[in-house]
This record gives sequence, C-alpha cells and structure tokens, in this order.
Amino acid sequence: MITIKSPREIETMAAAGRIVAATLALVAQHVAPGVSTEHLDRLAEEFIRSHPGARPSFKGLYDFPATLCTSINDEIVHGIPSPKRILTEGDLLSVDVGVWLDGLHADSAATFPVGPVSAAAEQLLRVTQAALQAGLGQARAGNHVGDIGSAVQQVAETAGFSVVRELVGHGIGSSFHEEPQVPNYGKPKRGPRLVAGMTIAIEPMVNVGAPEIRTLDDKWTVVTVDGSLSAHFEHTVAIGQNGAPPRILTLAD
Ligand code: MG
Ligand code: MG
Repeated sequence: MITIKSPREIETMAAAGRIVAATLALVAQHVAPGVSTEHLDRLAEEFIRSHPGARPSFKGLYDFPATLCTSINDEIVHGIPSPKRILTEGDLLSVDVGVWLDGLHADSAATFPVGPVSAAAEQLLRVTQAALQAGLGQARAGNHVGDIGSAVQQVAETAGFSVVRELVGHGIGSSFHEEPQVPNYGKPKRGPRLVAGMTIAIEPMVNVGAPEIRTLDDKWTVVTVDGSLSAHFEHTVAIGQNGAPPRILTLAD
C-alpha cells in the first residue's frame, strides 16, 4: 500500500532528514586515508543519538548491525563497518544512513572520494549525482515511477555506465521500506502514478562496468560481479502539489 503523508508527517521526515544530512556531512569531514569504517560508524551513531527522539534507522533493521552502510570501491551497498576496513587513498566510499525521528524515517546516501581518485572514479561520481538529479526532476505529481527510473537509466547509460537492477529505491515513512519500489531503470509512463504527499527514496546505484551483482559471504555486502567501481547517491523526497518539483527532505539547514 502506498501511503500519503500529512504536512505534519512531512515536516517530521524533513527534521529526520536534516539529521541525516548533518550525519553525512560529519562523516565526510572524517573520510581520510587511515580511517576505519567502524570509526565513521561510531561518530555517526553518537551524533544521531545526541538528537532527542532520534535513533539510527539501520541498526537492527533486518538485523543489520550498524548505523551506517559503508561500501568501498566495487562494493555497491550494505557494507558493514569494521575496524579492519581502513580507507586508502584513491578509494571510493559509499555511505548510506537513515534516521528515525518521532516515528518516521529519512534515508540518504553519498559516495565520497578518499583523497585524489582516478579520472574514471571522478566521472562515476559526477554521472551518478547527475542521474539522481535527473530522477529528482521527474518526481512530480502526475508522473509515474517509470519516469524516474527512465531518467536515471538514461543518464547512467549515456555515460557508458550501468545501473543496478536488483536493488531499488522505495517508499519511506513510518516503515523504512514502503511501497512503491522505485527502480533505477524503466520506461516513461509506466509504474505507479506519483501523487502529492508520497514520500520516496530515489537512489541510483551506478557501476562502471556490468550491472550484475552478488552478495558476499557476510550475507550483507553487495558487490559488482566484474569487480568494477560502483557509486550510490540518494535523497528522500516528498512529491509536491500540482506537478511542482519535489521537496528534498534530506538536506542540511
Ligand atoms: Mg539509503
Ligand atoms: Mg534507501
């Protein structure tokens, strides 16, 4: 069931989203060679819990053990923070974080370069961000979920990259994952119609190489089968009235 949020619920999600954005900004300040992903996770958890009424969405969600998903290079999503995972110059680190505040969630992700990175990695970051922006541009009442996926896919594939198929964006609210699914591929005018007050997470996962994925033995970390680099950017948005652009809920003040 697709739920429509009240203006008050959307304000609460925006408040959660501001904490999410501030968490990503805090993590970004600490991304550097020699830092462990577990250190970043601890900073993030302490920061989120310092806000009254807020807690990390991921910790315990489907038994995930941490506040952040930290995914390095060919890891696409769902990497588990570890004291043994030390960032190295040239890495790409994807950080995904959700915050629950007063009964509602917000969800965002960004991929950070660790020091200078290759030209291909820089292009991947630019293209994945552009793909997210293209998807956001289609997130308007009257459009369909397929308009978002089509826009994301076109940007990624025009650049010669591929989009992950098996993992998708999603509705979000009192549950972290709600309907509808929001794929990063698709055809215009297909899929559920977007209605004002829907809140969805749009989250392109873009690979330099082929789209195929596999899950590591830890049962969480999802990687590219061909070992190519992957990037992930995500915002939670509320669909506006009368075809207006969406309100991005995971922005800083
Ligand atoms: Mg996320
Ligand atoms: Mg998400």
